[in-house]
Amino acid sequence: MSVTKNQMVELFIEGITSEGNGVGRYQGQAIFVPLTAPGERVQVQIAKVAKQYAYGILRQVLEPAACRIEQDCPVYRRCGGCQLRHITYEEELRQKQQMVADCFARIGKITAEMLPILPSPQTEHYRNKVQFPVQEDSQGKPQIGFFAPRSHRLVAAQNCLLQPTLLNEIAQYCCVLMEKYHIPAYNEQTHKGLVRHIYLRQGYHSGQVLLCLVINGTNLPSGSKFCADIQQKFPEVCSIVLNINQQKTNVITGTKSVCLVGKEYIQDNMCEVPVQIGPLSFYQVNTPAAEQLYHVAADFAQLKPTDVLLDLYCGMGTIGLSMYHQCKQLIGVEVIPEAVESAWNNAKAMNAENVRFLCADAGTAATQLAKEGLQPSVIVLDPPRKGCDEATLNAVVEMAPERIVMISCNPATAARDVAILCGKGYVAQKIQAADLFPRTKHIETIVQLSRV
Ligand code: SAH
Repeated sequence: MSVTKNQMVELFIEGITSEGNGVGRYQGQAIFVPLTAPGERVQVQIAKVAKQYAYGILRQVLEPAACRIEQDCPVYRRCGGCQLRHITYEEELRQKQQMVADCFARIGKITAEMLPILPSPQTEHYRNKVQFPVQEDSQGKPQIGFFAPRSHRLVAAQNCLLQPTLLNEIAQYCCVLMEKYHIPAYNEQTHKGLVRHIYLRQGYHSGQVLLCLVINGTNLPSGSKFCADIQQKFPEVCSIVLNINQQKTNVITGTKSVCLVGKEYIQDNMCEVPVQIGPLSFYQVNTPAAEQLYHVAADFAQLKPTDVLLDLYCGMGTIGLSMYHQCKQLIGVEVIPEAVESAWNNAKAMNAENVRFLCADAGTAATQLAKEGLQPSVIVLDPPRKGCDEATLNAVVEMAPERIVMISCNPATAARDVAILCGKGYVAQKIQAADLFPRTKHIETIVQLSRV
């Protein structure tokens, strides 16, 4: 018998799902309840019923778990950013380790050695990238915040705890200046107004800040005064860029950018690789945690000086370049032109000569490289959330590298893809979860595979 809407039930929370919800069972049926912690007894009101499961709202914690902590953010669970602020970081790590282990056991049927999860060096203020949507409040003043989950309703928030205080302050000051110079915020309903997003990036090691205003137009009124005010108050800002997005779309950035101050990118480094960070390229958001991840990748790759390394889904080329000195030749593949351009510049800045970056779909490029007879000793795969496609995996297997290092921000698709590779002559040796996204449900996974 299923629960019914509005019914009150008492539950014991057994664990946390990959969505960050607590899960308990009522007469065998799984009930998902946000804001609950594993090991506690709660009273829950059923909110939504599906065939196999239901969603509930926490009404009362009857016996709190030892891992439960005070929530410290006024918009927690309303802004959609964090899911795990109500449990200790130790428990978060335990849950994430379990999530990855479950995916590999259930989806991948893989029994490789599972190393202990790597915690993030910082658990707050770690994001080097900030994207605030801007809207007018009821008084017509520009305000920043975040869209509520699965909606475009702005939850006003100025001091996100995942973001550096400096970046929060710069975004707040942008709103002050928008008012001062009568620059309107964008309105999604009417498609009128100008500023859609305030987008910031900061080099973790360099401290340099890039400010990008995403606008529904082609220029910023009082632009030079706006920039002068920003630079006077925040000397860290060395680039100010307008990104033009005049489409009626959910996509944040447009393809065209105009530089108002400095260059179109800032400089930083990652694992000693000099990097140029522009507004459009993918760049790991948690630099010190990503550096740890890259060290694991290098450890799993076990490169020799005679080796050829193929880095598929290479972004700005940082993973491959961080291992460049350990091998003979590096080839990177990435689909976003700006990222490929940055990758070339990064290679040039480190005088890396035996390097090639191809701007192409990973599957198409890998198929072509396999046809040309390329035989890399190691292939690094770091696909987006949806994982690798069949063409990519087939071409990888055809090139027959000794080792494959699979990196992924989605353990479910990683487990699926690793299982496919395991069916085609590879064996998974080690699995390492690495936390790049503390306080959120997200987790990074890295797997070492070798050819049998
Ligand atoms: N390895 C990089 C980037 C990983 S994120 C780093 O550590 O920084 C995944 C990258 O894959 C993104 O840069 C994205 O633009 C790229 N990408 C997405 N789909 C792709 C495809 N079909 N072919 C090639 N690259 C793709």
